[in-house]
Amino acid sequence: MNKEKIAIIGAGIIGASIARVLSRYENIEIHLIEMETDVGWGVSKANTAILHAGYDDDPFLYPNRAKYCVRGNYLWRKWSKQLQIRTSWNGSLVLSFSKEDEEELYNLLERGERNGVKGLRIIEKREIQKLEENVSPNVTLALWAPTAGQISPFEAVAALVENAVENGVILHLETKVLDIVEDGTRITKLVTNNGEIEVDWVINAAGLYADYIAKLVGEEDFKITPRKGEYFLFNDRAKPKVSRILFPAPKPKSKGVVVTTTVDGNLMIGPNATDLPEDEKENRETTQEGLEEVWREASKLVKNLPSKSEVIKTFAGLRPEPTGGDFVIRPHNSLLGFINVAGIRSPGITSAPAIAYEVPKMLLHLGARLILKKNWNPIRRRIVKFSRSSNRRKRELIAMNPLYGNIVCQCEMVTEAEVVEAIRRGAKTVEGVKLRTRAGMGKCQGAFCRIKIAMILSRELKIKPWQVKVKGTGSEIGVGDLFSLLRK
Ligand SMILES: Cc1cc2nc3c(=O)[nH]c(=O)nc-3n(C[C@H](O)[C@H](O)[C@H](O)COP(=O)(O)OP(=O)(O)OC[C@H]3O[C@@H](n4cnc5c(N)ncnc54)[C@H](O)[C@@H]3O)c2cc1C
Repeated sequence: MNKEKIAIIGAGIIGASIARVLSRYENIEIHLIEMETDVGWGVSKANTAILHAGYDDDPFLYPNRAKYCVRGNYLWRKWSKQLQIRTSWNGSLVLSFSKEDEEELYNLLERGERNGVKGLRIIEKREIQKLEENVSPNVTLALWAPTAGQISPFEAVAALVENAVENGVILHLETKVLDIVEDGTRITKLVTNNGEIEVDWVINAAGLYADYIAKLVGEEDFKITPRKGEYFLFNDRAKPKVSRILFPAPKPKSKGVVVTTTVDGNLMIGPNATDLPEDEKENRETTQEGLEEVWREASKLVKNLPSKSEVIKTFAGLRPEPTGGDFVIRPHNSLLGFINVAGIRSPGITSAPAIAYEVPKMLLHLGARLILKKNWNPIRRRIVKFSRSSNRRKRELIAMNPLYGNIVCQCEMVTEAEVVEAIRRGAKTVEGVKLRTRAGMGKCQGAFCRIKIAMILSRELKIKPWQVKVKGTGSEIGVGDLFSLLRK
């Protein structure tokens, strides 16, 4: 019997999670389609990466956000173990500095309990200071949520896709969906810049562009507008850090500027929330005004921030804000074969596993035949981190593969063997290697290792050095750049 063909448009955290969940079924052919050169380069790359506990979202106003966040937080514990994705379950504190803030904490507590969040408590100053040494002395009360955590979002997408591909999913990179063809009653094929793909089902997980995709099949009842959030990232030695995720009482548009330590050990502050016009879906510029706001708001939460000279990077991410504010998770109302998983703004990273399990339910309801595989493999191993291995293990690794003896990135102590492994797992660009290994993420931000990584990419991908891309299409290193990099 012919396999039914399912296309997932978008390889962000949502598309990747759906691909993994669908890869458990044997009688379907799954195509994961991504317009960028790599997976996880959309909204899922630049965000706060908090696994929210689930007290923020009002179940009456935003039922999907409220429901999927709590369930997703729970599921990530299992998924992160199966896929060896780094997480830290260090809990969050929402801090109050006034009577109004305190009232808001009690609202959050009530809402969280209604949403099913476990372990929530309002705590007093002495306990707050025990949980977080660097907290501002002006704090009055806090909502303590022990189930909140932090994840590495790019690593999560890469791991999900690796696992999905291992289980048979077909990944199409640099493939942009341009049109969707239907025969009057159901979807028949996708038109892309790389030709046509015959499909029976389409899952729209296109992030900021999900409204454009929905419009291709006549759905115009929601729009996605970008809401910018800006950040400072400090180098991993900058102190003081925080051991919990610190939030202010939430604002109407967002959860407010957060002070947190990433899973890589870097202090990070942000994001603010600035609404952009609908057509500025690529505007990821940071602004002086925005960064000043972030610094000012973060300073209120802690005793001290590190000096600005310890900042290694400022960056911005764009939240895909849907009309109405709730996630749009539903099939097309008249055309068979099209399902929206759109408008996945925050807490989308947290909610992703729970949202993904909705898709097979909807497919079954719509008449798809899905049969579970007997030999589905839930396990994925992470790239061995040489610098974090014991001395004995380091000797063993070098004996096994001499490329472990060649350090490519001095700041992060990344070896040539790790770079080669990242390429084997799908990195095609300098950025892809950086995100998978951390080569170039240290203090020098790649100034010294970029050329070495480019040469390894050239060798492994069997392309000329000047054809190596730094990021996506059009970012080829170029002969001039090669000479200037070689002079460094
Ligand atoms: C500032 C900020 C802070 C956030 N903080 C948190 C947080 O702390 N915790 C949390 O849980 N969530 C957080 N989020 C939300 C979270 O990042 C998003 O909900 C999530 O990343 C959305 O994932 P996605 O897969 O829907 O979108 P994306 O990651 O954007 O994936 C969609 C993909 O579709 C591709 N695509 C688009 N159009 C096409 C096309 N025509 N053809 C082929 N491919 C296409 C894109 O290239 C992209 O890769 C935050 C977001 C932002 C911006």
